[in-house]
Amino acid sequence: MIVVMKKDAQERDLDRVVSRIRDVGLDVHLSEGVEHTIVGVVGDVRHIRPEDLQVLSGVLRVVRIMHPFKLASREFREETSEIQLNGFSIGGREIPVMAGPCAVENRETLMETARGVRARGAKVLRGGAFKPRTSPYSFQGLGEEGLEFMAEAREETGLLVVTEVLSPGDVELVSSYADILQIGARNMQNYSLLHEVGAVDKPVLLKRGMMASVEEWLMSAEYVLSGGNQRVILCERGIRTFEGYTRNTLDLSAVPLVKGLSHLPVVVDPSHGTGRSDLVPAMARAAVAAGADGLLIEVHPRPEEALSDGPQSLTMEEFEAMMKSLGPIAEAVDRSVAGVDSTA
Ligand code: PEP
Ligand code: MN
Repeated sequence: MIVVMKKDAQERDLDRVVSRIRDVGLDVHLSEGVEHTIVGVVGDVRHIRPEDLQVLSGVLRVVRIMHPFKLASREFREETSEIQLNGFSIGGREIPVMAGPCAVENRETLMETARGVRARGAKVLRGGAFKPRTSPYSFQGLGEEGLEFMAEAREETGLLVVTEVLSPGDVELVSSYADILQIGARNMQNYSLLHEVGAVDKPVLLKRGMMASVEEWLMSAEYVLSGGNQRVILCERGIRTFEGYTRNTLDLSAVPLVKGLSHLPVVVDPSHGTGRSDLVPAMARAAVAAGADGLLIEVHPRPEEALSDGPQSLTMEEFEAMMKSLGPIAEAVDRSVAGVDSTA
C-alpha cells in the first residue's frame, strides 16, 4: 500500500501519516518525488485500513499495490528513476553505453580497451575482476589487482567503472573501487549478497538470472531497495531456452514489460544475451528501439586472445560501427545515445 501526499501537504501531515502506520507495527519507506511525497507501507498491510489513512490531512490518495514487489513498482514511483552519475545519468533521455572486456586480464589490455571505448563514446568501463566461471579450471579473474587496474583506467580516461561483486564478504572491497556494483546472473537470488549491497551507497546493476522470471527479478530488486539502496539498475542479459544457436535468448520483450511494471531503469546486455559477436550490434539496436536505458557491451581489442567470452566480444572496429548505427534508432524513439552524434 502507498500513500500519496498532496502537493501542498505539510511536514506535520506527513509525520501524522508515518506515525499512524508505525503505531500498528508497520514500517515506512519515503520517496520524495518531483510532485508528491509517497509513503510506502512496508509489512503486513492487513493491519491497517486504507480508509484510516485516506481521512488524514494532506493525503491525496491511498493505493493498494497488487504486485509482490512494492518499492520497485510503478505505482510506488510514477516517474522512471534517473540515476545520476558523474556527468551523465541512467534512466533519462540519453542512453549511456557501458563497454569493456569480460574480464580484466592485464593492465595493458585494459588500458587499451578503456581508451578505445572511451574514444568511441562509452561512458562506463565494464570488466570483471572476480569472475563467476562455470568451470573451476577457467580464468577466475585478477581479484583486487584487477580492481586496481580498473581504478587506474578511470583515472586516465574519466570513464566510470562497473564491476561484479561475487560474494557478500567482498562488497566493501569492491565498493571502494567501483562506481557501480554488478550483481551477476548467477547471483541474482543470492539474498545475503543482495542484503549487503542494499546497505551501500553505490548504484547496483542487477542482472536477470538466466532462469529467473521477471517477477523474481523484480523481487530481487526489492531486496536491494528495501535495504535502503534506491539506486538499482536492472539488466536483461538473456535467459535459457531450448535454442542452441545462441548462448541465451535475449528477452527484449522484458524491456517494455519491466518498464511498465517498474520505475527502475533497464539496461540490456546483448553480449551475454546472444553469446555471438555477429548478433550483438543488431540486438543492441533492437534493445534501443525497445526502450532500453543503457547497453552493456563486451569489447576486446583481440577477441581471439580473450581469456573469457571472446566469441561474444566486439573488436574496436565493430564497436565503433555499432555505436554509429545506434544514433538513428535512438532518435526514432525520441532518445539519444550518450557520446554519439546522430547527425554525423
Ligand atoms: C559478465 O557481465 O561478465 C557476466 C558474468 O554476466 P552474467 O552474470 O550476465 O553471466
Ligand atoms: Mn562475460
